[in-house]
Amino acid sequence: MNRRNFLETAMPAGIALAAGVSACMPKSQQMYPDKHYHISRGYHHIPKLRLSMDRIVKETVGLRPFRASGPRLDVEQLGNKTLVHNYGHGGSGWSLSWGTGNIARKHVLATQEKKVAVLGCGTVGIATARLLQESGCEVTIYTRDVPPNITSNLATGTWSPASRVCDVKVVRPEFRAVWEDACRFSFRRFQFLLGMNDIACWAEEYGVFQNEPNYVPGAGGEDFEVHGLLPERVSLSAREHPFKANHVTRRSNLMFNIPAYLRHQLQDFTMFGGKVKIQEIRKPEDIDALPEKVVVNCMGLGAKPVFNDEELTPVSGQLSCLIPQGEANYKLYTQGANFISRKDGIYIGSNGIVGNWDTTPSREQTEKTVGILMKLMEEMKG
Ligand SMILES: Cc1cc2nc3c(=O)[nH]c(=O)nc-3n(C[C@H](O)[C@H](O)[C@H](O)COP(=O)(O)OP(=O)(O)OC[C@H]3O[C@@H](n4cnc5c(N)ncnc54)[C@H](O)[C@@H]3O)c2cc1C
Repeated sequence: MNRRNFLETAMPAGIALAAGVSACMPKSQQMYPDKHYHISRGYHHIPKLRLSMDRIVKETVGLRPFRASGPRLDVEQLGNKTLVHNYGHGGSGWSLSWGTGNIARKHVLATQEKKVAVLGCGTVGIATARLLQESGCEVTIYTRDVPPNITSNLATGTWSPASRVCDVKVVRPEFRAVWEDACRFSFRRFQFLLGMNDIACWAEEYGVFQNEPNYVPGAGGEDFEVHGLLPERVSLSAREHPFKANHVTRRSNLMFNIPAYLRHQLQDFTMFGGKVKIQEIRKPEDIDALPEKVVVNCMGLGAKPVFNDEELTPVSGQLSCLIPQGEANYKLYTQGANFISRKDGIYIGSNGIVGNWDTTPSREQTEKTVGILMKLMEEMKG
């Protein structure tokens, strides 16, 4: 009996039939049937989320420090102190932290003082402090709270440098160039934080909509755009994605694994001799009492009462956190909901309520966004 006859006799009918079918297939499909299917359809690996209300382990509301005229980046003299402002980044503080930190650094270096106080230990304060250290300054951070008890800890953690950064109807025309410089500086800086246990990394971001949205999908309020940094957003044909939707886009975007990132930054700061002192600044006189002659104000929304900044307004944003799901490492926007998959959880959100100081999470908001995403996942192919 030759090998072919042996196989035909030995195999049950079903398997023989399958073998017959596979004999008609192209060779690559026989070897890797699933892989071939996914490649030929242009699919990327897009696992479904395990979504249910009992998998929500945390709900938070953070307050974005919004200023219609953009972040405050000027310098003022306060008694014998030089005060450099660096606060009010709205929904873009993570993205712009290095860039506006660099602007603050230039102001500080112009004074030629080497002992510098930084007020605030959020992502903006820590980035500014690190840049000052790199320029040879001895830095002490004075702060009411440290991570995780800061607004920066309650963010989504994606590259969104234009998100609620200003109101285009109010902002001065010069701001656009300042913003663009800050974007480019930050973006370059983030490239040096890649590959360090994923504190910063690249992820695929999908926009999934029934009708073409009349805005560029993003974290919200993105009136400014900077070209040539992120890869272009591409539209996917129905054969290239598993969603039940007419308009699907994909692009690669930067994201930040917030808890690990902040820890890494603080460790670097202390490794280079930086000190962190827990101290609340209640009034300008408290700043005057600090030993350093140059002070950088990175207090975010906390700057409002100290400097009577009437422009500074909270824009609250709720995030609902699902248990992390290692294989789901992408980001998605759809009508009424979005999520980002980080190492510490899958963060679903986020809304934006202007002028809202209330940080109580709403169960209703979580149910709404989870419901929208559950439907989207149920309708996904595969
Ligand atoms: C839901 C949500 C999602 C977001 N998503 C993104 C995103 O994806 N990408 C992005 O780029 N940005 C995002 N943001 C915006 C970003 O989180 C903020 O712009 C950023 O955290 C501001 O950082 P900060 O360091 O200025 O402020 P904070 O993190 O608030 O830090 C301020 C620091 O100052 C200290 N402080 C305050 N008052 C005083 C005081 N009186 N005395 C002493 N210390 C004081 C605080 O204790 C704290 O240490 C998001 C925000 C929210 C709420």
